[in-house]
Amino acid sequence: MENKKLKIVFATGNMHKLKELNEIAENSGIEFILPPSGFDPIETGKTFQENSLIKAKEAAKLSHNISLADDSGLCVDALNGEPGIYSARYAETPQARIDKLLNNLADEGNRKAKFVCAMTLVDGFGNILNSEIGECHGQIAYSQSGTNGFGYDPVFIVDGFEKTMAELTEEQKNNISHRGNALRKMLEFIKSNLR
Ligand code: IMP
Repeated sequence: MENKKLKIVFATGNMHKLKELNEIAENSGIEFILPPSGFDPIETGKTFQENSLIKAKEAAKLSHNISLADDSGLCVDALNGEPGIYSARYAETPQARIDKLLNNLADEGNRKAKFVCAMTLVDGFGNILNSEIGECHGQIAYSQSGTNGFGYDPVFIVDGFEKTMAELTEEQKNNISHRGNALRKMLEFIKSNLR
């Protein structure tokens, strides 16, 4: 009987990310749920991988459940990879972060950038079960457009599309996104090893 979903805590407070994950995992027999209240990890890592491990361990400590975390961000070539792991902390609000990015690239012809997502899966004791990385390559637009998605989506033009990520449908984004790419690899691991 295949109606009992494997529940995995997803170490986030970001409802956009939780929604994206459950859409991508829709037919996998796995459901991602929020961590218990009090989840407030301190991201002291120097890499996406280190921060995703910190978040996954914190979620497992609170929930005693298998937990998955992602740490993601935007890396811009002309800014030496910034904002990178500081993507969420680049400025005060989502709009201020976009404005700062466009200002910092105002006279820059090289618009190359990528979204990166590191995922770490731990058991209920915080031991690492698997890690994966997903990337999505593109260019930073000269102005923002589109209202879907979140974060830097309105200024990220995905390679192979002449649209920003915020102009793609949810399904289109999930098919090519850094998070989608990392999660599909993680789901393969989970299906082969934990089901
Ligand atoms: P995190 O929650 O610590 O992983 O921070 C990730 C930050 O990177 C977000 O707050 C966004 O600013 C940015 N980011 C990560 N993934 C995406 C995405 O899919 N679209 C747009 N921005 C993203």
